[in-house]
Amino acid sequence: MRNYTQFYIDGRWTAPVTPATAEVINPATEEVSGTISLGSEADVDLAVAAARRAFGSWSQSTVAERLDLLRSIQAEYTRRMQELGEAVTEEMGAPLALGTGFHVGLGAGHLQTAIEVLENFKFEEQRGPTLLLKEPIGVCGLITPWNWPLNQVTVKVFPALATGCTSVLKPPQLAPYSAQILAEIMDKAGVPAGVFNMVQGQGSVIGAALSRHPDVDMISFTGSEPVGVQITKDAADTVKRVGLELGGKSAWVILDDDQMAANVAAATSGMMVNAGQTCSAGSRLLVPNARMAEAVAAAKAAAEAVSVGNPLGEVAMGPVVSKGQWNVVQQYIAKGLEEGAELIAGGAGRPDGLEKGFYCKPTVFKATNDMAIAREEIFGPVLVIIGYDSVDHAVDIANDSPFGLGGYVNGQDRDAAIAIARRMRTGAIWVNGGFDFHAPFGGYKRSGNGREWGRISRGQVDHRLRGTAPCCQAVMPRPPPALWPKAGPCRGSPRPAACMGPTA
Ligand code: NAP
Ligand code: MG
Repeated sequence: MRNYTQFYIDGRWTAPVTPATAEVINPATEEVSGTISLGSEADVDLAVAAARRAFGSWSQSTVAERLDLLRSIQAEYTRRMQELGEAVTEEMGAPLALGTGFHVGLGAGHLQTAIEVLENFKFEEQRGPTLLLKEPIGVCGLITPWNWPLNQVTVKVFPALATGCTSVLKPPQLAPYSAQILAEIMDKAGVPAGVFNMVQGQGSVIGAALSRHPDVDMISFTGSEPVGVQITKDAADTVKRVGLELGGKSAWVILDDDQMAANVAAATSGMMVNAGQTCSAGSRLLVPNARMAEAVAAAKAAAEAVSVGNPLGEVAMGPVVSKGQWNVVQQYIAKGLEEGAELIAGGAGRPDGLEKGFYCKPTVFKATNDMAIAREEIFGPVLVIIGYDSVDHAVDIANDSPFGLGGYVNGQDRDAAIAIARRMRTGAIWVNGGFDFHAPFGGYKRSGNGREWGRISRGQVDHRLRGTAPCCQAVMPRPPPALWPKAGPCRGSPRPAACMGPTA
């Protein structure tokens, strides 16, 4: 049992002003795995005041000082990677190999990237008669979701630290453990008092208090669209900047070539990584109509090969995060059947032999792009296959979505694949797999307005005098093999790179 009842404020472990606690449920067992404290506005006030005080000196720190600190954090993070991975598995149900592998690897990658960017970042530039300064924005409120919990915390906390901002982190109630360990890491590494603070609790209380707080300069939020909209409204009265990383319904285009069936199989097993709880997951698989039967057979075989079970075992897929999320997935499966989509694999209920735990079946539908299961984000292991007649048709379907976060194109003709990627109105596109911590990540349309990862973590640096905000597409190269999920999760996939494609 974990007992994480103190917050990290002003360099100290601090009890909540008004004591209140909540139990955390292990999604694999449905049993209580520990307790966290729920903060109140008074705790937020203390944390923001500490961050405000610390900003004076931290914003004036040298690059060398900040690099030293990031390297100390890196040493401590590296020492505790196994523990961090186990915490992720316990809080949100990722298979242990995925938790200790890719989940923790994402955090390590963002940390290393923050160091590399800071080593080379030009904070000053002489432009004609003007000296252009890029300065830390100030106190940042960082609000994160539970699905890739370490990824989302580290992609905000480390760039903030690197640029001289101070921050208050509000981790998700459903996945509070890895964030708590990260706060211990920051403490042990010697982060100066007030530079990083963490308050656990309800989003509607802690998140809202941060969003409205007059002394917070920026909110960086990752999560759902409705909450993103609410935060934007809450932040408006104090004219803060708001960076939003929201949901998606990303298209995965498979070209008509010799690799078609293998690519369909890889995309299908890729969809099931992290039980489909990935904002940039390729949840709409676009395949040539002329070869639909072959594609359906490949997807069915791949989905049925995904082993589901206790995340502490050697499985590809664990449970979804909560009872609520399980219910949402079940409702969408029922909706798909009601709408007349053809069920290819999986379906309602738990997989055979699993009576307890929030387990879903890896599910595949053949559908049309107007159905709710093709338009709305399900955030579970449910893939929708849609047929296209021509490349133009595929591009039209891909772009016919309220979202625009990720995208994928797989095919042997790389130039043709990139030509399609160029026409997709979406933030990041993986062409034949690939991964790059330095490539920007963020969405078009209802998927948000932020860009994170690498140098572009603009959330935290004020680009004075910049005319327009960048809105860039990233076409990503292949990932470093060390960061692929270890062993279990991707077994059965012919292409590990595509298997781990969706990441955040
Ligand atoms: P969520 O319900 O929007 O919650 C995200 C965070 O916001 C949590 O910490 C939550 O607190 C907090 N929150 C809730 N209400 C709030 C309010 N009124 N004001 C301020 N904060 C508030 O999202 P989720 O269910 O955790 O995560 C799933 C969603 O995140 C999906 O839509 C997914 O696509 C999206 N996502 C996007 C990205 C990206 O990079 N674009 C990455 C990952 C996930 P609680 O702890 O109380 O819930
Ligand atoms: Mg939620």
